Amino acid sequence: MKCSKGENFTQGELCRYGNIELSPSACVLNYGQGLLEGAKAFRGENGRLRLFRPEQNAIRMQIGAERMCMPSPSTHQFVEAVKEIALANHRWIPPTGKGSLYIRPLLMGSGAILGVAPSPEYTFLIYASPVGNYFKEGTAALNMYVEEEFHRASRGGAGGIKAITNYSPVLKAQANAKNRGFSDVLYLDSNSKTNIEEASSSNVFIVKGNVISTPALSGTILEGITRKSIIEIAKDLGYKVEERCVKVEELNDADEVFCTGTAAGVAPIGSVTYQDKRVNYSMEGQLISQKLYSTLVGIQRGLIEDKWGWIVEI
Ligand code: PMP
Repeated sequence: MKCSKGENFTQGELCRYGNIELSPSACVLNYGQGLLEGAKAFRGENGRLRLFRPEQNAIRMQIGAERMCMPSPSTHQFVEAVKEIALANHRWIPPTGKGSLYIRPLLMGSGAILGVAPSPEYTFLIYASPVGNYFKEGTAALNMYVEEEFHRASRGGAGGIKAITNYSPVLKAQANAKNRGFSDVLYLDSNSKTNIEEASSSNVFIVKGNVISTPALSGTILEGITRKSIIEIAKDLGYKVEERCVKVEELNDADEVFCTGTAAGVAPIGSVTYQDKRVNYSMEGQLISQKLYSTLVGIQRGLIEDKWGWIVEI
């Protein structure tokens, strides 16, 4: 779908995956005026395709577009386009529990412009790829490195939206951590450097007793759709959920630590290393994150009643 500045997107069309043409002076290439989204289509037990809260991706993109001076597709246009992509790739979506279709919407300032200003033209496109399960259930846990030098986002920046420019500054931190054998990075806030924020592409939660805490949204943390859903599921299961500042020291005596995101669902963290001190969490003890994981995945696959109406079956 394309549109000019000040206009609305009109109906797009389905086409084969391939390269797209962009001017070398396209705003997105020069000034990073772009947003991405990430969603998944699952195959339910009954064989039909299931999307998880796609309207939330549309709304998040609209909020981001406002911040980035871009027009955005309506929720209806967005969700219909996601459905069309999922149906067109129907045959690539494996049976329940064997993987899913990752769906990547992109909104960009695709018009040519030399000075720093919003693009005169915009492109909204969606591509998709089949993906396997993030990890085999119950076996893997993430080993996280708490990053002190590089920050993901600062106050007043674009950390709270899914701007494409949020991801390039984390590549170095992620590469450093991976070279040292870690799975991913946990970022600290750039002001006090004492609060944990999130990982490179997932939100983080800690569990102490019956209380589940996650960093409050401060404009520097992406409001994950999985985060939002896990908060509702956890409250429904009777846990106390707190959205607040989570101090990095709290990782030392947490019972469980886990990440949430579209890619992994709920991913248990097996260890966190901060200032060269490693804290390990026993995998047998990760009962709450296991429960949250199985509830979320159960809803997505159609094994557990979708009482919130989160699933769009197509
Ligand atoms: N934080 C960041 C920085 C992300 O890129 C993602 C992935 N979209 C998340 C959190 C988790 O968001 P969601 O649950 O919507 O996938």
